[in-house]
Amino acid sequence: MPLKSHTCGELRPSHIGQTVTLAGWVHRRRDHGRLIFIDLRDRWGLAQVVFSPDTSPEAYAAATELRLEYVIQVKGIVVRRPQGMENPDLPTGEVEVTAQQLTVLNTAKTPPFYINEDALVDETLRLRYRYLDLRRQRMQRNIILRHRVVKFIREFLCDEGFIEIETPILFKSTPEGARDYLVPSRLHPGNFYALPQSPQQLKQLLMVAGFERYFQIARCFRDEDQRGDRQPEFTQLDMEMSFVDRDDVMDVVERLYTAVIEQLSDRQLLFKPFPRLSYAEAMRRFGTDSPDMRFGMELVEITDLVAGSAFRVFADVVAAGGIVKGLRLPGGASYSRKQVDELTELVRTFGAQGLISMALDDRGEVRSPLVKALDQECLHAIIQRMEAAPGDLLLFVADRPAVANEALARLRLALGDRLGLRDNKVLALCWVIDFPFLVWNEQEGRWDPSHHPFTAPMDEDLPLLDSDPGKARGKQYDLVCNGYEIAGGSIRIHRREVQEKVFQLIGLSLEQAKAQFGHLLEAFEYGTPPHGGIAPGIDRFVMLLAGEPNIREVIAFPKSQSAMDLMAGAPSPVSPEQLKELHLRLDL
Ligand code: ASP
Repeated sequence: MPLKSHTCGELRPSHIGQTVTLAGWVHRRRDHGRLIFIDLRDRWGLAQVVFSPDTSPEAYAAATELRLEYVIQVKGIVVRRPQGMENPDLPTGEVEVTAQQLTVLNTAKTPPFYINEDALVDETLRLRYRYLDLRRQRMQRNIILRHRVVKFIREFLCDEGFIEIETPILFKSTPEGARDYLVPSRLHPGNFYALPQSPQQLKQLLMVAGFERYFQIARCFRDEDQRGDRQPEFTQLDMEMSFVDRDDVMDVVERLYTAVIEQLSDRQLLFKPFPRLSYAEAMRRFGTDSPDMRFGMELVEITDLVAGSAFRVFADVVAAGGIVKGLRLPGGASYSRKQVDELTELVRTFGAQGLISMALDDRGEVRSPLVKALDQECLHAIIQRMEAAPGDLLLFVADRPAVANEALARLRLALGDRLGLRDNKVLALCWVIDFPFLVWNEQEGRWDPSHHPFTAPMDEDLPLLDSDPGKARGKQYDLVCNGYEIAGGSIRIHRREVQEKVFQLIGLSLEQAKAQFGHLLEAFEYGTPPHGGIAPGIDRFVMLLAGEPNIREVIAFPKSQSAMDLMAGAPSPVSPEQLKELHLRLDL
């Protein structure tokens, strides 16, 4: 027999007169002398329970002992709340339960923070007592939303003919650009498993195996330096399809995401269908391949207008192969010197030399260090190119393309924040396609795959791999939402000779390639269908749906910023016996 006949959240006027048994936690307690009110909480909501010595002296006496977070069972009758005492903010606010019996199922120490308020609590404390943090309404809401999203995804993909297949956690290194987590083998001294950075190779092998449409809610492990909002283990919706091209994969994902957002969230989906930008266009307009398209303020290049001009800062940068780009801050002419200096500081933190400003006052007069050096015609051309109007502030960066783009992209986001243009109730999704296939690794002096080594180059760019590899484009696609890359995928190489060539290009000898990926190369000889896939991150998507600022808010038991579990204390030392069994000696 369950300990409750009803949930706390379900009581309505239709239950009036019924005897119910509820069980849950003491959420709030108000002592009004001869009446004690308890808000009883369970996963489904809150119910008000009233204890009175007139109804049950025993229950009333026991209720005087109750403290917050005690776990109790209450038997009583559902009655209408007295007139004027209803709580319209609560779904159960029209009724209350007159308690007849109270059983304390467990007591509770005073929690280290309030469970019944959404107050700001130090995150270390929250993670240390995560089980209490998760009791809070906001966290319950997030975790339940996550469950609903995953359930929706499963049903949607099953209806589309996908099947869910689990792949191993103990496997071999699968590169996604991070360091592996290694697991020493006891049975095979000196050998290690690697935790998957993603199930990439395995899902491709499932295509070789003929499953044609696969998905998995997959845990991935990447031992990265903990910069930004990342977790050492995170969850992806891993997908792969056979006999498809890039549009087919993008189409399923676009329909899925549109449906999830529209059916499970109160967020506004800004674009339908999702716009598609080439990598080059995204870099040109936004300075980044993960643009936040909730607002404009796009970047505009003026390199051609200032090349060889008398303004040395610009002219020198252009002569050295750099670019000059800027953005227009509407109404920014009223920014103070100090405000502009702050923005200059910001772009400096992203490697730019500085920021050149140009203010157009209300009469259209120009205030700028450019005024002295450039002639009227050039100034006018810049104003026109930037589509500037009186009252605007133009901000320029002159630098190497990568630096200028990065600095302006960050500046654009910072200004978007300042002007309240990045409303998290709005979701702006877009696709970025036509990426360069390879990126040059300065440090190592070789090409790196810009996605991963299994991505196929564009068919028409295949000859470029021999002649001019840097010019080749890859068959990959990213899904971007509000400035975050939320999914990445590609059409894969499915022929051994192409895969071998790519391994070679990225600096793997045939021996190394065989040692690491021999199984895949071999599989490609047994009738591999053309295939491709994608892996949307679940954590960040749920974060965006929930309007939360970081992914830890939508993961039940996340690691801290320094990759620790603060509740259980992990990682932690192990016993000498364990190390011995694993044939390991520490060298600290
Ligand atoms: N394995 C890739 C990743 O984790 C996604 C994919 O190409 O499907 O980013």
